[in-house]
Amino acid sequence: MKAQIQDSAGGGPTDFDEGFRARLRDLLVWRRDVRRFRHDPLPSGTLERLIRLACLAPSVGLSQPWRFVIVDDPAHRAAIRDVDYANAVKIAWQSRRFWEADEHIYGGISWTTGPTTQVWYPSDRLFSAKGILLGAYAIGGQADELASRPLPEQFDTSRAAIEGLHPGRSRELEKPMAVAWSKMPYSLGFAARFRNGQESEYSLLNTPDGPFYFAGEHLSRIGPWQEGAILSARRAANMIDKHRRVTDATNANP
Ligand SMILES: Cc1cc2nc3c(=O)[nH]c(=O)nc-3n(C[C@H](O)[C@H](O)[C@H](O)COP(=O)(O)OP(=O)(O)OC[C@H]3O[C@@H](n4cnc5c(N)ncnc54)[C@H](O)[C@@H]3O)c2cc1C
Repeated sequence: MKAQIQDSAGGGPTDFDEGFRARLRDLLVWRRDVRRFRHDPLPSGTLERLIRLACLAPSVGLSQPWRFVIVDDPAHRAAIRDVDYANAVKIAWQSRRFWEADEHIYGGISWTTGPTTQVWYPSDRLFSAKGILLGAYAIGGQADELASRPLPEQFDTSRAAIEGLHPGRSRELEKPMAVAWSKMPYSLGFAARFRNGQESEYSLLNTPDGPFYFAGEHLSRIGPWQEGAILSARRAANMIDKHRRVTDATNANP
C-alpha cells in the first residue's frame, strides 16, 4: 500500500515515491543548524508564506501554541542586534564537605586570584556526607579566558585555586563539571551589557514597537538579577495597562 499526503497547496495527493523519500531523508540527515543570517529584506510575501508553512508543524489537537512576533522597526532591530552579552563560566566539584567538617565554613564565598575568581560553598544540606563546591564563577573577560582553555586545563586551574585556599584538600575533589554560557547553543551569554554610549538604544528598547513591548533583565539597570527582570516586566505591564486605559477613555469619549 502506498502512503499518500495532500500537498501543502491543497492540490492532489503526493506519492511517497523513491525520489520524494530520498529528498526527505536528505533533509532529515542535513539537520543544518543555521547561526548566521542575511540582513537584506525578504521579497514581499515570503515571510507570510514561511509562517503559513511553520503553522503546519504538528501541535496537539491543532492547538498551535505559538505566536509569531515580527519586529518591524529598523531602529528597534538594530538596537537589539547591538546589545552585547557577557560570558560566564562555572565549574563545580563533588567532594566530602571538608570546608565544614575540618574548617568550619558554612556557606559563603572565598575570593581567589586568577580567572576562576571565587569558590562558593553550599549553604544547603550542611553536614551531609558530600556536597557540591563551586570551584569557579568567572564573568566577562575572565570567563572568556577560562572558556578558551581545554576542559582538563579549566579543571586543573580550579583545582589549583581550591588547593591554594585549602591545602591538601584538592585531592578530594571529584566529578568536575564546567559550563560556559558562551558555548550554550542559542545563548549569547549570561547577561546583557549595555556599553557607554548606548543610552539611546537602551531607552528605545524600553519603548514599544507598535503593539510589542520588550522586557527582561537585559532592559534593566540592575543587571543580571531576577529583581531587574521582574521590575522590567512590571514596567512593561504598567505601560500596557496605561495604553489600555487611554484607549478605553478615548473610545468612551470619542
Ligand atoms: C549563571 C547565572 C547566575 C545567576 N545568579 C543569580 C542570582 O544568584 N540571583 C539573581 O537574582 N539572579 C541571578 N541570575 C540572573 C537571573 O537568572 C536573570 O536575571 C533572570 O532569570 C532573567 O529573567 P528574564 O525573564 O529576563 O529572562 P530568562 O529567565 O532568560 O527568560 C527568558 C525565557 O525566554 C525563553 N526564550 C528565549 N527565546 C525564546 C523564543 N524564541 N521562543 C520562546 N521562548 C524563548 C528562554 O528559554 C527563557 O526561558 C543569574 C543568571 C545566571 C546566568
